[in-house]
Amino acid sequence: MFGSPMIDVAMAGVLGLLVGSFLNVVIYRLPQMMERQWAAECAELAGKPAPDGPVVNLVTPRSRCRQCGHLIRWYENVPVLSYLALRGKCSACAAPIGLRYPLVELATSALFAFSVWHWGATPAGLAWCGFSAAIVALALIDWDTTLLPDDITLPLLWAGLIVAALRWNSTTLPQALWGAVAGYVSLWLIYKGFKLLTGKEGMGYGDFKLFAALGAWFGWQALVPIILMASVIGAVVGIAMKFSTGLREGGYVPFGPFLAGAGLTAMIFGPASILGVIGL
Ligand SMILES: [Zn+2]
Repeated sequence: MFGSPMIDVAMAGVLGLLVGSFLNVVIYRLPQMMERQWAAECAELAGKPAPDGPVVNLVTPRSRCRQCGHLIRWYENVPVLSYLALRGKCSACAAPIGLRYPLVELATSALFAFSVWHWGATPAGLAWCGFSAAIVALALIDWDTTLLPDDITLPLLWAGLIVAALRWNSTTLPQALWGAVAGYVSLWLIYKGFKLLTGKEGMGYGDFKLFAALGAWFGWQALVPIILMASVIGAVVGIAMKFSTGLREGGYVPFGPFLAGAGLTAMIFGPASILGVIGL
């Protein structure tokens, strides 16, 4: 689009850093916004006044240090560079800033650069950038809170259908449509069966929607490879967690991050060859 492909890739990398910085805000605040909305809806149903408190959305209030409340200035908020310049500490109270912030920025940057390197500065390249951003946000929100927000899963599903309808990727619209249907229904059936047999709930409805979205992006043929890949990633992470304490507090491990990991694997290697990636 702007001439040299390498310039396009570099620009996508920079865009990815900025989007990654925004995703850090989404990952931290979207669950809080959802909980406030639920509290407000519960209060309304109970005929009570809505719980009050300051407005929280993706823009307001401005970011502050969680330790001392120091208002983060723009030059302390430059992706990756500020983290390095501040040596990972708040400039006011020296409380450590999570390493995850720059890592999310770098990962998003790498995925954006890959998308534009692979598909060029085209609608397809841009579509896969959007896919990566949504997947990164979903994986980390689910890991932190065991929630997969409808505000991300449902637009991701629709986007997959639209991208297929516009022929921006190699999935045909029927493949995308049946992928979405089969993705949702298959996990719903497993959920119902598991509940019937054990009386326990093994996963959440968000998982069905995320799997449906992956079906829309990659087509129904990719669903079995994706679920196998997600299980392999889950097993590897599960074993790693057995040997390291404190990787995750509490017992429940959400499935969404592994589905998300499988989705990124399918994007990078192609859905047809992800079984080859894990040696099947
Ligand atoms: Zn501070």
